[in-house]
Amino acid sequence: MQCGRIGRAHHLLLAACLGGTVSPVYAAPAEPWPAPVAAPVPASIPDGMPVPLPRQRPKPPPAPPAVPHSFAEAVAGLALDPADVTAAPSDCLTRLDAMALVEPLPRLIGPGACGGPDMVRMHALFLRDKSRVAINPPLQLRCRMAERFADFVRDDLPAIFRERRLRSIDGAGSYECRGRNRIAGAKVSEHGKGNAIDIHSVRFTDGGSLVPTDLLADKSLRETLKAAACARFTTVLGPGSDGYHEEHVHLDLAERRNDYRMCQWTVQAAAPPDTGAAKEAGTNAGAENGPPAGAAQAVPLPRPRPAAAGPAGRNRP
Ligand SMILES: [Zn+2]
Repeated sequence: MQCGRIGRAHHLLLAACLGGTVSPVYAAPAEPWPAPVAAPVPASIPDGMPVPLPRQRPKPPPAPPAVPHSFAEAVAGLALDPADVTAAPSDCLTRLDAMALVEPLPRLIGPGACGGPDMVRMHALFLRDKSRVAINPPLQLRCRMAERFADFVRDDLPAIFRERRLRSIDGAGSYECRGRNRIAGAKVSEHGKGNAIDIHSVRFTDGGSLVPTDLLADKSLRETLKAAACARFTTVLGPGSDGYHEEHVHLDLAERRNDYRMCQWTVQAAAPPDTGAAKEAGTNAGAENGPPAGAAQAVPLPRPRPAAAGPAGRNRP
């Protein structure tokens, strides 16, 4: 055995040359030792080159909407007293039940400041003579607003319409969660609190009807209607108020400082029909100034709606 040169490192030869005993257990390995693996060295980045940033982690999915964990949390902002919660009908509902066809609704909560306690859906009213007045579509309201409207229909309207008997109240609007005049971001409407009603028309048992905003309808009748409405409700908005109420009348029970009330409804009459005298006057006066005055002013047009009013005809505060 040559021990002067140990070519490849081989522990078996090395042990023999050093005079040690060789255990048969260690006689088997004949492969070379694996070369050490160098750790990766990051490539150098020339000066001025942007340093690549690590890839961003994917964004987590959006959190689900917050769900209130308690009743108190759910009603926060609604000025409700959780202590009032009870399964028993309110005093208001008991009174209303005696004069209207109503169904109690669950308390409405949100979104935002919308909703209210003691809500009802009112399908019809019973006049004092027991006759029934349908409401189309049914009104969804806070009970106190429903009760005030029931008083208005039962106590005021029969006296105003006298021999004409009411059959229905049509085109009515009530609860709807939205901003005033349907403007996004505006303060929540009284409609969003179940505290407002829009009236388009009333129908009588004789087949006729009355549209309170119709310029051709009896003016004194509409003035009486306005006076009664303004006495019952803290807000009455009709034609001439703000451009949003030319085709319906809005009633609500908004509470304001110093019990301020808003009664804005300009009751106008249609101009008298064109006559020969008016034609003659118009011809004489307007020969050089466009069309005759009588023709142009036969019926006063409602004020144009503001541009931001949205779809025409159904804008309500
Ligand atoms: Zn309204």
